[in-house]
Amino acid sequence: MTEEFHLTPTVPAVLQDIQPLLLDVHKTVDDMDRHWGTVSYSKLNAYTHCQLGWFGGNFGTFLGSTDSSQEESAAVGGTIVQRIWTSLVNDRVYRELPSLDQRVYWMTKQHMALWYTIIFPYESQFEMTKKENRAFFKSARGIARLGQMTQDHGLDVRLYTGIQPKFVVNSDHTHRKHKTLEAYEDSIREQYGKMLTRFASLDVDFDKMISEVFFRTKFLSHIANGSIDFIYNSNGTAPFTRLSELKDGYVLLDGKLQIGPTVSTTQLDFYLAALFTQYRVMPGAVGFIDWSESDFLWHGGVSLDTVNQIQRSIGAMQSNAYILLQSLKDLDRRGVKTISFEDIPHLTVHPSRLNCRFCPMGTTCRAAHEAGTNRHLPKKEELQEGMK
Ligand code: SF4
Repeated sequence: MTEEFHLTPTVPAVLQDIQPLLLDVHKTVDDMDRHWGTVSYSKLNAYTHCQLGWFGGNFGTFLGSTDSSQEESAAVGGTIVQRIWTSLVNDRVYRELPSLDQRVYWMTKQHMALWYTIIFPYESQFEMTKKENRAFFKSARGIARLGQMTQDHGLDVRLYTGIQPKFVVNSDHTHRKHKTLEAYEDSIREQYGKMLTRFASLDVDFDKMISEVFFRTKFLSHIANGSIDFIYNSNGTAPFTRLSELKDGYVLLDGKLQIGPTVSTTQLDFYLAALFTQYRVMPGAVGFIDWSESDFLWHGGVSLDTVNQIQRSIGAMQSNAYILLQSLKDLDRRGVKTISFEDIPHLTVHPSRLNCRFCPMGTTCRAAHEAGTNRHLPKKEELQEGMK
């Protein structure tokens, strides 16, 4: 009896259809050279979870188009909630609406109007480039849509900015979850009412609050930037308008649709470390707002150690980015045109359901397919459902 040996590994059937992801070395070097010095919480978070995903999502330029923008309709709800609160706070809408009922009415109505405005069927994202999609509401078509939404749903002109289309499979999912559109609207109304009442119970003066606060901080030779959902300048004078007015004891908050396994307190640490580095102020409290519970989840232990820890984590990530960039530059100098995604040096790979679910390479990455943790592309019937 002869024994049969396979000299080359057998590729499991499930992997045979997956095209290797090829990186354009020169374009990647060019892009990474310009952007590697800027850090954000999302970069640090991605680096902590899977270094290959961090690299691919932030710096990789691939041959052909590999990713698409796909939102879960429930997540879009969170984006809308934040946009409505930002307008209430930053546009000082609350001054025009003194009673609780007036505020709840305005927020609910604008929430529903924004829902109709920003949700698009999944496949429509391929009609334009990503850049055009991002700037859609500044284009003639986008401006016409905004006007139509004001006419049809009463969309407030103050919400014309700071929004982007969201491409959603099964765009009526949230409504179906609540059985009817009325039930969805009722739940949103209740949520806004409870949160406004919660703020009132703490005597929060919205004149001391700003929302969607952009910061840009120098960490050694790196730039850290990001946007903080809410800052309450408890010990400052009203109205609070600029970060330079921030006083010790301020409150830093990040809104979440729900507190789940992807929520990490490192996000809060990153923000407070950035503000401390730039303005030398320490918060009195940091925490999340859980929109679904209409309550706060406070994060204890704010200290200088937190700042040092974040600075060390950023240092480690940036050292790796620098070494990686030098290796890719070397390949580029030697005339190597492409490299397979999995062969990128110096990086560890951690496929897991959670990591791959939010990774831009989640549908195409071979490591994810091998581990069975890849995301699935929407099925044809789901797309058709989403187009309705
Ligand atoms: S798909 Fe998963 S394993 Fe692949 S790079 Fe992304 S997070 Fe890592």
